[in-house]
Amino acid sequence: MIFLVLLGAPGAGKGTQAAILSARLGIPHVATGDLFRSAVREGSAIGLEARRYMERGQLVPDDITVRMLLDRLAERDAAKGVILDGFPRTRAQAQALDAALAEHGARVDHALQIEVPMDELVRRLSGRWICEANGHVYNEASHPPRVAGRCDLDTSRLIQREDDRAETIRARLAQQLGALREVSLHYQDRGVLRSVDGLRPVEEVTGDLLAIVGTSARSGG
Ligand SMILES: [Zn+2]
Repeated sequence: MIFLVLLGAPGAGKGTQAAILSARLGIPHVATGDLFRSAVREGSAIGLEARRYMERGQLVPDDITVRMLLDRLAERDAAKGVILDGFPRTRAQAQALDAALAEHGARVDHALQIEVPMDELVRRLSGRWICEANGHVYNEASHPPRVAGRCDLDTSRLIQREDDRAETIRARLAQQLGALREVSLHYQDRGVLRSVDGLRPVEEVTGDLLAIVGTSARSGG
């Protein structure tokens, strides 16, 4: 069993890498957001418990999230391992996860951190423009309009939502990177943090991540 935790800021390419690693390693990608949604949908006891917090607009307590995760890990497809994404987000959550895994004789083998500098994250996240008339979505980098500021399909004006403006994104990222750093330090202290340069092409980042995981598999760790 290999237990991987993927760490990275929004825009670092975590979701993309999680999907590729999952396919290449044959282990499931477990995103905690999806876990909540499916537990609530299935109406399991723990899902109902989580829903009580969500309905009040409160955060689901860490112990509930950890119990939900352990249930997921007990499923058959996770026997060979798992790629965890979206949890832990705080040092307290990382400690809760370690404690719960230890009770089951398991541990986090690698915390894989995809590092991308703040300016590049802002660039990747802030290029989103939406057409005023019909909500068609454009992206400065990956899908620019033919005429700047105008929708290709209906020529309506392109606007940027408050959430997609560079300064809004920078402020939100600063907060998220602070929390991420706490989690990274936790895994660094435990000697399982491995960082890769997320500025390079997707397949090179994947290569680095697989090399880290593969090396440990060969050495029996
Ligand atoms: Zn449009």
